[in-house]
Amino acid sequence: MLEAELLNGLRRVLGDDRVVVDDAGVADRRHDYWVLSHLRAWRGVFEGRPGAVVRPVSTAEVQEVVRLAAAAGVAVVPFGLGSGVCGGVLPDAGTLLVDLSSMDNVRRIDEVNLTASFDAGVNGLVAEEAVAERGLTIGHWPQSIAVSSVGGWVSTRAAGQFSTAYGSIEDMVYALEVVLPDGSLVELGQAPRASAGPDLRHLFLGAEGTMGIVTGVTLALRRRPEARAWRAFHVPSLAAGLDVQRRILQDGWLPPVVRQYDAREARRTFREWSIKGQGLLLMCHEGPAGRVEAELAAVDALAAEGGLTPADAAAAEHWFGHRNQVPSWEELFEGGLVVDTIEVSGPWTRVEEIYDAVIADVSAVEGVVAVSAHSSHAYRTGVNLYFTFAAAGEPDDLQDAYWACWDAAMAATARHGGGIAHHHGIGRVRLQHLVHDLGVAGIDLLRTVKGAVDPAGLMNPGNLLPDA
Ligand SMILES: Cc1cc2nc3c(=O)[nH]c(=O)nc-3n(C[C@H](O)[C@H](O)[C@H](O)COP(=O)(O)OP(=O)(O)OC[C@H]3O[C@@H](n4cnc5c(N)ncnc54)[C@H](O)[C@@H]3O)c2cc1C
Repeated sequence: MLEAELLNGLRRVLGDDRVVVDDAGVADRRHDYWVLSHLRAWRGVFEGRPGAVVRPVSTAEVQEVVRLAAAAGVAVVPFGLGSGVCGGVLPDAGTLLVDLSSMDNVRRIDEVNLTASFDAGVNGLVAEEAVAERGLTIGHWPQSIAVSSVGGWVSTRAAGQFSTAYGSIEDMVYALEVVLPDGSLVELGQAPRASAGPDLRHLFLGAEGTMGIVTGVTLALRRRPEARAWRAFHVPSLAAGLDVQRRILQDGWLPPVVRQYDAREARRTFREWSIKGQGLLLMCHEGPAGRVEAELAAVDALAAEGGLTPADAAAAEHWFGHRNQVPSWEELFEGGLVVDTIEVSGPWTRVEEIYDAVIADVSAVEGVVAVSAHSSHAYRTGVNLYFTFAAAGEPDDLQDAYWACWDAAMAATARHGGGIAHHHGIGRVRLQHLVHDLGVAGIDLLRTVKGAVDPAGLMNPGNLLPDA
């Protein structure tokens, strides 16, 4: 547990109510949405809790909290809304969990420059609804929009479902306000673009709480699109669909949603609209009406040239209407299954072999009963793959099967030239695989940077960076 001196100091700054130490009070802050933490909790073997949970409501309070923790040599774990799926939040009794969810003010919406500033703890859907009232949109729609925070989006380098046209969170961040591990404040991002040295905002984009606490986020906005249309195509082979996606993107068209399901997922999720043995490509087109019309015509032509056949666009609208529904992990454990998703990416020339290798290697893991994938974020240079696997077994064995699936998927992706993490982050689940992305020299560089920003190693230790 934490020393009384630190707890008393925290109470002086925040008051008794916002410094929580009792088991019941910290119960829902012991871990994030990582399936392995949920599995351990479900099996009754989850150990660990933060020494205390504090709930600052202002940047100045976060600074005071961080200064007190630093003076006491106590590690700090930032917590947004806990929807992270990689084990980024796993505090032990010697740590202080800084819960940002009470920092929930929409600070400012600027309708001329199209920016909006938020406290880091603002719920994603609340942020989107605040700008929607003015006819604007952030354009960032992670499946977890209703259960994740703006600061969490930044800290995990999140990507939303409409990213193909609107970009991922790094394309939307205009300015950041961050409390550094010594309690000082840095404000980054003054204008639409800068040529003023390395872009320091990127130190915190994807830092997963290891470089400081993001307290304020300014995002660039868009006006809500004039028109929206849906398209769906049957895909005779993975390669044919990927090639059509590539041509759409490389010809300069930008549908915000481009999702290609393999035959297994097409059957499982869109039975009513799919053809057995074929995949499904779904698209949403948005923008000025004239551009949407032109894009639809171009996409129809490219799809026909590529051997795809039109499917009922109702499939795409069905996806839109149900896109954020997910079963709870516990429901699946009750059924004797552990299920997880693994998102990777690859250049167009390698993505098919990545798909084949991951499907083959994960399928070979003992206990695996299903592996499938879809793509959901397309670029001129390549595309992501979002795998879902399910392994069956006795509760005590599920954890081993789980790790074996992850190891197989990471190794196969790396072996075939892919990127091991598209948008969920590293956390603890990918810790040992980060080297595939950064290389040994890159890990050393990240460690050097981390050592300079956080010399005492107090910001979310054990997360993101593997031990030396
Ligand atoms: C059902 C479901 C669907 C999802 N869909 C998507 C999706 O479509 N796209 C996507 O990108 N992700 C998705 N995710 C993952 C998750 O929602 C994102 O990673 C999200 O950005 C996490 O935000 P959070 O506020 O919940 O962060 P948390 O889970 O609280 O924290 C995540 C990490 O960031 C750190 N952190 C959080 N806030 C701060 C802060 N203010 N300053 C410094 N560090 C901080 C934490 O220490 C931790 O390491 C999904 C998750 C679920 C459960």
